[in-house]
Amino acid sequence: HIKKINESYFGSYSSFGIHREMLSDKVRMDAYGQAILKNPSLLNSAVVMDVGCGTGILSLFSAKAGASRVIAVEASAKMAAVASQVAKDNGLLLSKSQNGVDGLQKGVIEVVHGMVEEIDKTVELQPRSVDVLLSEWMGYCLLYESMLGSVLYARDRWLKPGGAILPDTATIFVAGFGKGATSLPFWENVCDFDMSCIGNELVIDAARIPIVDVVDSQDLVTCSAILQSFDLATMKPNEVDFTATATLELKPSTSGTCCWCYGVVLWFDTGFSSRFCRETPAVLSTSPYMPRTHWSQTILTFQEPIAMGFGKENRGKPEAIGTEVYPAVKIDLRVSIVRSTEHRSIDISLEAAGV
Ligand code: SAH
Repeated sequence: HIKKINESYFGSYSSFGIHREMLSDKVRMDAYGQAILKNPSLLNSAVVMDVGCGTGILSLFSAKAGASRVIAVEASAKMAAVASQVAKDNGLLLSKSQNGVDGLQKGVIEVVHGMVEEIDKTVELQPRSVDVLLSEWMGYCLLYESMLGSVLYARDRWLKPGGAILPDTATIFVAGFGKGATSLPFWENVCDFDMSCIGNELVIDAARIPIVDVVDSQDLVTCSAILQSFDLATMKPNEVDFTATATLELKPSTSGTCCWCYGVVLWFDTGFSSRFCRETPAVLSTSPYMPRTHWSQTILTFQEPIAMGFGKENRGKPEAIGTEVYPAVKIDLRVSIVRSTEHRSIDISLEAAGV
């Protein structure tokens, strides 16, 4: 069953559309480009492994940055063939015959077809001999598709002690959203008619499943909080699944003294920190406050909205938001994200309480 799922997962990566989407994501490309191309003391003469090379873009960057050897690992047969062709067409594929003829080594990239967990027999490489481990493994809500486990496997098997992993940090953030991020405003006024019964039904439905979509930062009603941070260089493989808590406080700029919080938005940053990228650190942010990326944000809707108000003085004035409930000063959250055992998805559980 698992094998079947992997086949369909890697099969999905053989369609070029998804690669075009990733390669057109400027925020993504700038962060990886900066980290790889602008840190010569890290990349120059380094042995690099690119976990899940796709079209091979990160390997091409590494070759350009002066790596001495780039092992580009790709599980999809079609993409492995494509990556080889692209590296060859750009004069960057390692070619042993040319090496023999004129003594000049043409190209440094070797494409290895296979899952990174299973390449021992395919690649001539000593365990723990890679200087820089590169990967773009992030999925929606950071962990959807669960490729992080494969990267950590590669780290423990192939990376030199003290070697660099790029990116080396990942952080999941959370913030509460107001009515503006729901479909309610649309249905409340359709050509001056009230269709809010449809909006209400949709908001109830939305509580059943996370939605990946772009959220306007103006629709966030609370400050952002860190939900979970990962240190890719040191974390244990079993730490990919986690339960964490966070507290959300009203954003000072939230208009009026009270508002409804309909749910939370999750997003992530990954860091190419100065620990390894000493010359030019970089951050890839998928925050709603930053230019959008193909990851958008992940929206989790509460079963019922929570009324929020500033300070104690509003607690006795529920009428301020036209209800009988007392507005909460903050929201306590408990979120767990766990890899689903049966397929490459994640199970998210969310508990929220106004306090
Ligand atoms: N590095 C490329 C592609 C990123 S998408 C880029 O930045 O554009 C992730 C790629 O990793 C996909 O092509 C997928 O097929 C591959 N992949 C996922 N898990 C893998 C594994 N365990 N071993 C090898 N390749 C893997």
